[in-house]
This record gives sequence, C-alpha cells and structure tokens, in this order.
Amino acid sequence: MSSLNGKAPFQDRRTFAIISHPDAGKTTLTEKLLLSGGAIRAAGQVRARGERRRARSDWMKIEQERGISVSSSVMTFERKGIVYNLLDTPGHEDFSEDTYRTLTAVDAAIMVIDAAKGIETQTRKLFEVCRLRDIPIITFVNKIDREGRHALEILDEVQEALALDVSPQTWPVGMGSDFFGVYDWQKKKFHTSEGERGGAFAQTKEVSGLDDGALTDVVFDRIMEELTENVELGAEGYAEFDQESFLEGHLTPVFFGSALRDYGIEEILDFIADFAPAPHSQPATGGRTIMPAEDKVTGFVFKVQANMDPKHRDRIAFVRLCSGTFKRGMKLKHVRANKQIAVSAPIFFFAEEREIADLAYPGDVIGVPNHGQLRVGDTLTEGENIHVTGLPAFAPEILRRVRLSDTMRVKQMRQGLQDLAEEGLVQIFKPDLGSNWIVGVVGALQLDVVVDRLKAEYGTEIGFETVPYSTARWIETDGQTLQKIIEGHRMSVANDRDDKPVFLFKNAWEIGHVTEKFPDVTFRETREIV
Ligand code: GDP
Repeated sequence: MSSLNGKAPFQDRRTFAIISHPDAGKTTLTEKLLLSGGAIRAAGQVRARGERRRARSDWMKIEQERGISVSSSVMTFERKGIVYNLLDTPGHEDFSEDTYRTLTAVDAAIMVIDAAKGIETQTRKLFEVCRLRDIPIITFVNKIDREGRHALEILDEVQEALALDVSPQTWPVGMGSDFFGVYDWQKKKFHTSEGERGGAFAQTKEVSGLDDGALTDVVFDRIMEELTENVELGAEGYAEFDQESFLEGHLTPVFFGSALRDYGIEEILDFIADFAPAPHSQPATGGRTIMPAEDKVTGFVFKVQANMDPKHRDRIAFVRLCSGTFKRGMKLKHVRANKQIAVSAPIFFFAEEREIADLAYPGDVIGVPNHGQLRVGDTLTEGENIHVTGLPAFAPEILRRVRLSDTMRVKQMRQGLQDLAEEGLVQIFKPDLGSNWIVGVVGALQLDVVVDRLKAEYGTEIGFETVPYSTARWIETDGQTLQKIIEGHRMSVANDRDDKPVFLFKNAWEIGHVTEKFPDVTFRETREIV
C-alpha cells in the first residue's frame, strides 16, 4: 500500500490495543471498530469466531466457562487510507503477563471504562504498564446509553486516579432513559438516533455550536440547559487537547460513547488517524535505536501461539515489524539462534480470515509459522546482530512442583512444558536437586490451562504439589559467587528454561536475608527474554 502523498507507508499505520476490565465492553467495541473499517460484515462475528475457536479444544472451555479470553490475536483493517492493526489483549488478571508483552508491540491504547463503574482494578493495572512504556492513551467511556455516573464525575476520577490530564472530546447528552446522543465538542456535531431516545446512532447533525437551533430542536430544553452548563464547566475545568502532551502520555482525550449503540466509534477512529502516533522507534542492544524509516528489516516476536490447530503441531510467532519493508520469501536472521530463516508463508490476520502477507511495513504484525524455533523476545534482522530490548519476563507469584501420574510420559511432559514455556504461558524451573520440574505462573488460572493443554495436546496427565517457595528471582553474578550461592542454598537454586540461574525464595524475609548475605549479587524480579 504505497501512499499518494509521498509519505512512507509506515506513516499510515496505527498499531494499538484496547485495555479494559472484563465486561467494560472491549469485545463490543472491537467488533464495531472492525465493522466500521469494513473488516467484518456483521456485528457478532468477533464473538462468534471466538466461540468457534473455543469449541475446538478442552482448555479453551476454561475461557468459555469463566468468561475470559485467553488467546490474543491481531486484527487488521483499513479505513480512509489508514491501516489499523488492533492487537487484542486478554483481559483477565491471571493472564497479565501475556497482556504486558502485547503492550510492548503497540504504539497507542484505547482504555475502555464502564460509565457506571469508572476505573476498575484491571484497567488500572494495564494503564500502569502503558505508563511505564509511555504509551499514549485514548479514553472511551462506554455504556452511556445506560444510567451511569455523571460525565464530570468520571472525568475527575480518571484525572485523579491515574494522575492524567483529561481532555473531553465529546459530551453525552442525557444518560440512561434520557439519553439523546453525543455532542462532538471539537467538530461541533451532534450524533443522535433517528427515532426514540436511547436508540442506536443513526444520524449526525452539523451544528454551529450549542446555541444552534437545530440542536435545541432535538433535545429537551431541560437537558439542553444541563448540557450547556456542563460543557462550559468542562471548558473551564479540563485541559485543551495538546498533541505533544498526549503523545508523551500526560494527557488523555476522552470520548463518551456506546459501543452497543454505535456512538463514538467513528470519532475514535478519526482521532487515531489524526493524532495517534505512527510506529515509533524501538530500543535494541548496544545502545542502538531502530528507526522505522531504516531500509533494513527488523522485527521482534511478542507472542507465540502453539497448536492453533490441534491436528498439526503448528506454531505461529507474531512478529511486530520495527523497520524496513518486509517482502514475502525474505531470508531473515534469527539472531538468538544465529541462523537464517526463509519467511516463505507469512500471514496477515484479518477479522474473518488470514491472508499470505506479500509486503509488510513497520507497525504491521505478521504471523510466522514455525516448528518451535521462534520464541517470545526473539529478534529477526537482515543480518545485524542486535536484540530488540524491553520485553520482560516477570517473576512468578505462584510456584508448584509438577507431579506426573504416568512416569512413562516424562518425555512428553517435558516437551509440553517446554512448548508452553516458549509460548509464555508458564515458566519452568529445573531444580539443582531432584528431577521434578517446578512451574511458575503469574495467576492461578494459568495452572488449569497447563493441566488441560498437556492432556489435550500431549496426552499427558499431570497434577501439582505445593512447594515451600513463594517467588523466584533471577541471579545475576559471576560464576564463582554463583557457585557459593549454590553450595549454601542447593535446595533453592534452579535453572530456568534457558539455563539461567534462579533463586527460589520462601518468603520476603528470605529475600532480605539472602540479599544481605550476597551484597554484590543482583536478584532480579524481571529478566529480559533474549
Ligand atoms: P468485554 O468483557 O470487555 O469484552 O465486554 P463485552 O463487549 O463482552 O460487553 C459486556 C456486556 O456489556 C455485554 O452484555 C454487552 O452487550 C454490554 N455492552 C457493551 N457495550 C455496551 C454499551 O455501550 N451499552 C450497553 N447498554 N451495554 C453494552
């Protein structure tokens, strides 16, 4: 897709994610964004597709039963010359690690808030990750067709709870049973339904301002008065939109809308097109910064999904391109393995289908089918020996020893755990003493997924036993000191899947104690996965 206006194609890319607490309306909004871009034909397909996929294997039943989405994916659509790459993030707190990594691959995020509930726990956690990475946030206050909190109250909450400047872009006119529509403050438009109050968005009235007669005609006097007053209060009380502040992550534009009734969808897409950042630079090892305009291709794997089709042991590595123009068939260097790989069947993901990717630009995500060579954190280049940095592995909060019912299946179990570890679902630790591996997860639900997937995909039944450890830290030191640590604490030292040494701690007290004993050693809570 070359550009008519002399811009490089990557400048027309917008790669973003939606963050929210479960039930705030992420699925509904996703669906409507895709519909608006013409990527799907009818609402309901995002969910339908999800359900089809869920039906395919046992572990996916967990998603269904608990109403969460475990697998994340990429959806690409085009609208008015802009290519949108929407990276779906699993919303449940137990899967935050996967979500965090997906957020390393986006340039902006939409934060969906339920108008009645305000900022919820998961929204806040995800927001903090975005803030750590300076990802600009666009706020969508959803469900304003229902009785919710007052717009001013929500704005204040976002401002105070997240320490962000807020800049309302649209304003709800009435709420719940008195809901009339949304006033676009910036563009001076009023979006409303054709008939009844609270109905689906069907028409836009261009107005000159709040005192335009066309507006008063469709809105009750009482509400009109309230709206005028509120907009005045808003103009006085909140920041004007400032792009620089937004791009630096200090200010969030706020859109009030209803994903269900189509209010606010076009506005948010237009806003992303006009103001959200094009693909940004990416830090790499050796102090290198990869710029999207560079000629040579670089990209990194932010997610691996194994066994998407249980009949074939296929894996898809999701690669975010950082620079260059990718062409199908290219040979790229898999830096960690120091090998060339020919990317002959790269995939683009659309809402309804997958397609072979012939050309891709920075900001795009391609799926690279492979047999396990590619892992989360891997870098692909046209020859340069660099690793993209900034994709952390997190210290697990729950550790369990694996118990195998049928000891004849040790090999399958290890293979399965190794595969799931490469997908990023679980971390594995091989103790210095004893042969039973220990697994670590960030949330308890992941343990169920591991059990179910090992059974469904590797024909191996496992259980878990508790261990006296509560967390793990990566040990960073020289060989001699490491030897000393091992001698003094043999029971507590293990190797991770890359044979990096890890200390399994029983409790916070022990962390303090051991850290004091070895003042020159760093015990890390995260480790870069390269
Ligand atoms: P998710 O868990 O964040 O993906 O939320 P969903 O999109 O599945 O929405 C949760 C529930 O809220 C569903 O029953 C939706 O139909 C409903 N919902 C989503 N958006 C709106 C909205 O704008 N208005 C109303 N009234 N309900 C909505």
